[in-house]
Amino acid sequence: MFIDGAWVEARSGQTFDVTNPATGEMLGTVPAGDATDATSAIDAAHNAFPAWSSTTAYERSRLLYRAWELMTERSEELAQLMTSEQGKPLKASRAEVKYAADFLIWFAEEAKRVTGEWLPSQRPDQRFLSVKAPVGVVAAVTPWNYPISMLTRKMGPALAAGCTLVLKPAEATPLCARATFEVFVDAGMPDGVINLVTAADPGPIGDVFTGDPRVAKLTFTGSTAVGRALAAKSAVNLQRISVELGGHAPFIVFPDADPVHAAKGAAALKFLNAGQACISPNRLYVPTSLRSAFEETLCSRVEKLQTGNGMDEGIGVGPLVNDSAVSKVEMQVEDAREKGAGVPVGGVRLTEGEHANGHFFAPTVLTDVCDGMAIYREETFGPVAPVIGYEDPEQVVELANDTNYGLAAYVYTRDIAVAMRAFEGLRFGIIGINDVNPTSASVPFGGMGDSGIGREGGHEGISEYLETKTGGFAI
Ligand code: NAD
Repeated sequence: MFIDGAWVEARSGQTFDVTNPATGEMLGTVPAGDATDATSAIDAAHNAFPAWSSTTAYERSRLLYRAWELMTERSEELAQLMTSEQGKPLKASRAEVKYAADFLIWFAEEAKRVTGEWLPSQRPDQRFLSVKAPVGVVAAVTPWNYPISMLTRKMGPALAAGCTLVLKPAEATPLCARATFEVFVDAGMPDGVINLVTAADPGPIGDVFTGDPRVAKLTFTGSTAVGRALAAKSAVNLQRISVELGGHAPFIVFPDADPVHAAKGAAALKFLNAGQACISPNRLYVPTSLRSAFEETLCSRVEKLQTGNGMDEGIGVGPLVNDSAVSKVEMQVEDAREKGAGVPVGGVRLTEGEHANGHFFAPTVLTDVCDGMAIYREETFGPVAPVIGYEDPEQVVELANDTNYGLAAYVYTRDIAVAMRAFEGLRFGIIGINDVNPTSASVPFGGMGDSGIGREGGHEGISEYLETKTGGFAI
């Protein structure tokens, strides 16, 4: 762990093991921090805040720029570590490290764009000034599915704004978190500004984060259930919160779309990170007129996907994070099959040969999926593409909106008016129009409804770590 400028063990001396989800091989051991370690980390962040928040935006920008340079230099070793620890294919890990570094350079630049305003007064002897101030100590909790970029997406803007922070990464990916912290440490972050607490049991750390009045802001990415519970606890101290939670993305193919192009897009998008992405499509709405062309292309693409150790050449789908993730996917597929869905491709756990020691599920296509099946409403977080037929294009946006989640949605059409109406009608935070990658460090990322509160990235990303101060000057 990294607390107050030093790499330390847990006070208790306890550790936990980290394993490779593709092979079961042990990768290393990390400290199992507890509530006392989390409190020490908050002490350090609290003590470092006055000096760090007084640095100039130019100084903070230079440090973030240096971190970007170091992350870029180390990108290959970081990508290899990510594939070993998290499982995604090496090519995808390389893309994630680049995405992670993008947040550093973006917020190195945004640090210098935080400005204030002169505002009008009704009194001739009065002047109003409104400025932005960093919120204070930030507590961050991050997930395993994007184990480096989810850290930089929080650390970049928090540090740029002048906040200090304490971060707890997911139990499955603490080595990626350690390597990310090494980048910041080597870039020259002053002692106490960034603190890392690893833990096998996240509950007590969450209690400290939400219960300590010195923590001004909680930023969380993970499941809706945990985000909701943490938000409820943090309300007691009136902490500011950003929670980026689960999703259940619709992918709508309109009748005028090219079904082959749309199916290729769906196949590319759905199986990224083995489907373990909050913006992964979970409902593919395809009009009856295009179903056979769409399903044929989708199935032929999915059949060709190779599943295995992400380090191996040609692998398109890696393992899932653990065995219970495989069981959840299996349960959703079985439930759909029992209720009448077709399973033209995949549909089974992979347990033989090279898959024997990992957590693998075959890339799967389900057809004739309908409401009433678990997969229609529950987030899958696995490599399963559920196709839902529909008749009426006037109603499909309504069907897509019929979810408590509101993170990402995708639309395929060749008609600009259809695209614009869908964009306006869909209640989701991120919408791809003929586009399977509507994300970037330069744009806001986040959802509506049960998908969370707040936005990361873009100009808004830094505002989550700032608050407004108004000065009235009688002159
Ligand atoms: P999770 O909620 O189980 O874990 C996320 C983090 O919360 C981990 O660090 C975990 O240790 C921690 N945590 C769990 N219980 C805690 C507690 N009581 N107190 C404090 N921390 C606690 O989710 P996960 O399985 O790691 O991640 C998958 C979920 O994350 C999916 O639902 C996915 O959609 C979501 N996700 C959302 C986004 C987004 O930006 N919206 C991005 C990635 C993942």
